Amino acid sequence: MFAKWAVTGIMATALALPVGAQPPDKPITIAAACSEHDGWADPAPPARLYGNTWYVGTCGITALLVKTSAGLVLLDGGVPEATPLVLANIRKLGFSPRQVRWILNSHEHYDHAGALGAIQRATGARVAAGPFQRRPLASGRPDPDDPQAALLGGHPMQPLRIARVLLSGGHLSVGGTTFTATATPAHSPGSTSWTWRACEGARCRTIAYADSSSTISADGYRFADHPERVAAVRSGHAAIATLPCEIIVTPHPDASDLFARMAGAEPLINPDACRTYAEVAMKRFADRLAAEQQAVKEPR
Ligand SMILES: [Zn+2]
Repeated sequence: MFAKWAVTGIMATALALPVGAQPPDKPITIAAACSEHDGWADPAPPARLYGNTWYVGTCGITALLVKTSAGLVLLDGGVPEATPLVLANIRKLGFSPRQVRWILNSHEHYDHAGALGAIQRATGARVAAGPFQRRPLASGRPDPDDPQAALLGGHPMQPLRIARVLLSGGHLSVGGTTFTATATPAHSPGSTSWTWRACEGARCRTIAYADSSSTISADGYRFADHPERVAAVRSGHAAIATLPCEIIVTPHPDASDLFARMAGAEPLINPDACRTYAEVAMKRFADRLAAEQQAVKEPR
């Protein structure tokens, strides 16, 4: 399906070229298309990540499409404005949006789930979510325990119908591909990382869609006032560090240099990637806690 689209893309480009111009060797790559645009709603071409898994998101926000023998699975949809871009990318790969059977989400913020209400209506897909994603996704309103809740209130999301709730370690099997949910509640209460196997011929790799690991908050929020959130952040980082992980993908593609890796400028496969990604976040969180303590000692 992808090859067919790629050939069609070359022909369309060639027809549009002025007389005498050389046709390009291949369609524009995602790295080139996004080299000067990294906006959340900047369109990116669809691109194969590995095996049955494609990138169908924008230049700034990841959406992944997995082909199984029982239909498609979409992970994340981006901001509301990305809805037509993600649906167009699914079509460019030769699929119909109606073939999307399941939708999964990294975390319940509008920059990753904001498009999912419209995409659920367009596709008729069912949604599987972690237990702490369920309420914010079903209501469209942020979790009050989210350190970013005060920031997110201005970005309500279209509510989703949740068909299945998966506890950490739970599986969703679709047409021979098994998606494992791992609660990684570092960035938000519902943060969930997803892992599955993708194969190219006999070479199978574990893809880890590792959720955001940053610990940002609304102004005035102190993690030190919320020991249960601190514990959740630490458990989330520890869980990310130990994910089965050969190909890491992050909801913000630049957090894992995704396009450079897809272009071959950096290794796509790195079994240490999730651990390294988590360790960087652990260090930043320790710095954040230290800064909070320092502010108590030296009130302004
Ligand atoms: Zn977020």
